[in-house]
Amino acid sequence: MKERLLDLLACPTCGGDILLAYASKYDDKEIMDGVLSCKKCSREYKIVGGVPRFADLAKIEEDKAETAENFGWQWTHFTQENEQYADQFLGWMQPVTRDFFEGKIVLEGGCGKGRHTKLAAEWGAKEVVGIDLGDGVESAYAATRHLPNVHIVQCDIYKLPFTRKFDYAFSVGVLHHTPDPKRAFVSLAGKVKKGGHISAWVYGAENNEWITKYVDPVREGFTSKISQPMLYQLSKLPTLSVFLTTKLVYRPANIVAKPVAKRLFYNDYLNHLGTFGWREQHNIVFDHLVAPTAFYVSKEDFVSWWEEIKAKDVEIIWHNQNSWCGFGQI
Ligand SMILES: [Zn+2]
Repeated sequence: MKERLLDLLACPTCGGDILLAYASKYDDKEIMDGVLSCKKCSREYKIVGGVPRFADLAKIEEDKAETAENFGWQWTHFTQENEQYADQFLGWMQPVTRDFFEGKIVLEGGCGKGRHTKLAAEWGAKEVVGIDLGDGVESAYAATRHLPNVHIVQCDIYKLPFTRKFDYAFSVGVLHHTPDPKRAFVSLAGKVKKGGHISAWVYGAENNEWITKYVDPVREGFTSKISQPMLYQLSKLPTLSVFLTTKLVYRPANIVAKPVAKRLFYNDYLNHLGTFGWREQHNIVFDHLVAPTAFYVSKEDFVSWWEEIKAKDVEIIWHNQNSWCGFGQI
């Protein structure tokens, strides 16, 4: 943890200022182990392995802890980097562009292994704070600690330990895996200062009826319950069929016979998926099967989230015919 993160922290319980009570181990400028304490209520929060810990998985509601654990395993095992992450990220963040991050204090709600936190930092954000509930924070911290403007915090998105100082908050593919996506979104928006902006990307209900009908029962009843190492192996089978279909049918069809390709099932998304190699496709298939909780959000519901936070100039964009990107001003 970098000491200047203290400027952005606030007690998640009472909102009081957070102080560094003591640091027992420094590594370069990073506080590796120590204790933070609230000036107002005196509650203490540990810094372990360079990451301040405001949530204890052992004390958190079972459904949230299960989601955090399953995704945590994913982000400590699928730690690959991919040059396509930047384009993929900007696809989800539409209409935001790289230069939007310049000079901003940014909060990412659910950073996983930190790939988007890292991009935001590289694109010129003044400070970027990536939060997550699960073990993903260990990978995120390892991947970003060398960047002077990045901070990783372990906490619950419903109880964010921050002051309202952020210019921009975003959340990509995370809110729909929380028990109450709208409430998580409202919580994140609550840390953005007046005049700042927020982006969110969520699974759409529209066009995903086949997933809710055929994939969800398998995910809920089986694949999210088995051990992650077992799912890692087992998910290679559906990945193989996705890999062959996207590489042998969707990609060629979209290159040589666009009008025909447009009529293929789920074409926009599967054609997009076909641009990735095996490792990334395996990661995506695993991701779809590992989550204990997943909501598919209709446009109507999504619009109501933005109304709830009274956002201005809201833009809602339909992405790959299967998900929603939203952007607005607080
Ligand atoms: Zn407090």
